[in-house]
Parts: sequence; structure tokens; C-alpha cells
Amino acid sequence: MNNIRPSKISVYLLLLLVIPTLLVSVSKAQDATPTAVPLPHWEYEGNTDGPAEWGALDARFAACSAGKAQSPIDLKSPVAGNFTNIKFDYKPSVLNIFNNGHTVQVNYDAGSSITFNETKYGLLQFHFHHPSEHTLNGKAFAMELHFVHRSAAGNLAVVGVLIAEGKENEALKSVFDNLPTTKGDPQPSQLMTDAAKIIPADANYYTYTGSLTTPPCTEGVRWLVLDKPIELSAAQIETFGKIFELDARPVQALNDRDLLEDTTAGS
Ligand SMILES: [Zn+2]
Repeated sequence: MNNIRPSKISVYLLLLLVIPTLLVSVSKAQDATPTAVPLPHWEYEGNTDGPAEWGALDARFAACSAGKAQSPIDLKSPVAGNFTNIKFDYKPSVLNIFNNGHTVQVNYDAGSSITFNETKYGLLQFHFHHPSEHTLNGKAFAMELHFVHRSAAGNLAVVGVLIAEGKENEALKSVFDNLPTTKGDPQPSQLMTDAAKIIPADANYYTYTGSLTTPPCTEGVRWLVLDKPIELSAAQIETFGKIFELDARPVQALNDRDLLEDTTAGS
């Protein structure tokens, strides 16, 4: 009987140790669960919910103001070199187009990808900014197209394509003839789009590590901005501008980051 008491004490001690641990685990699990609180409204202009205020709108947007590796940036004074080429493996997709309230987005069928630095990133969607978000030596372009990719490990890579005013763009005709003017969900479509025909041939690229350019401004995004712009006609740009007059975040500080430029396209 003598040995019961110490064992009871042991059980009590064990419970005293285990219960707080369990409570901490439960609260951690609750923290990790997506909260039902909707994300706040944000805009591209204004003193209350414009870009300068994004970080203060919600704790989940903190990186927008506190982050030191934000996007977009001004592309200038890159370190030039022979870096890994981007291997594009884009296939046609059904045109799954919608207006999400901040841009026009085309969700892309599974099966298209890029490979960069031996990592494969699947193409998820592309969308537009007006004017461009990245600037080249301080100069903004008429628009910018972002191809958003994700690797199996969950890392994001975005290919940015600057857009200048020029000839009508045939490859983007199905998109620009069907720009949704009001916010809504993706609609099934009989039309097709082909990202392989949209990207310019033999382009070099600038690369750096940055962030999403919209809240929550999440960092760890591999940016690959092609150095050869594509063209859209003045009418195509105007059509987009009537829907989104301004949907571009201002350039952010480079801080302690390297901007690299690949100068060996096609090799
Ligand atoms: Zn974008």
C-alpha cells in the first residue's frame, strides 16, 4: 500500500504539468484555425484605406507596412549575370475570367507551369494592373500583367510582364473583348486563352524576393519581371482603364535586397 501514495502524487503532478500544456495546445490550434472575421475593405486610393494605410487596417495586413521585402519596386541598377533561365511550359486554357473588385483575373486550367532554379511552379491565374506596378528606371508602363504560380511546397513565383501602348494584342483579344465591368464570380466560358502566346519571346528578366502587391502583402514571393514589354492598343488599355482607373500599388523600398538581371535569354 505504501507505494500507492507516491504513485497518486505522480499522477497529480503529471496532470498539473499536462493540463496547462493541453490548454496551450488548444489555444494554439484555435489561433491556427481560419478566423471568421472577414478581411477589411481596402482600396488603391484614399487616406483611410489606401496603400499607406493597408498595414494599419488589420493585424493580418501588418506586413504591408512593417515588411522589409515588399513589392513592387523600381527596377534599376541590377546586378547583371548569367542566371538560370525560366522554362515556360504553358498550355491553352478555358477562359475563366472575372472581376474580383480589385482587378480582372483569369483563373488558369491546371497543367501549365514554369521551372525556375529547378523548382516547378504551377500557373494558377493571371491578372492586370493599371498602370504598371514595377517601374523601370523610375518609368511606369501603361499596364502590367502578373502570372501567379505556386510550387508543390506552397512557394509563390510571379512572372511580371510590362505592357506598353502599341499594336492591338491578338493573344489577349479573348481577354480584352470580355473584360467584366462589375465584380462577380468566374463564369464558365466557351472561349480559350493561351499564356504561351502572351509572353514575349527571348525576354531576359529581373529577379528579386518580394511580396504580394495586395493585402495581406505576404512576403517570400519570387519575382521574375520580364525586361521586354508586350503591347496593347490604346483602345484595349482604355477599356481596362474604364473599369480600373488605378489598381497599382506604389513602389516599395528595396532595403537589404539584391536585384538581379539575367542577360542570357535563350541559352
Ligand atoms: Zn498583381
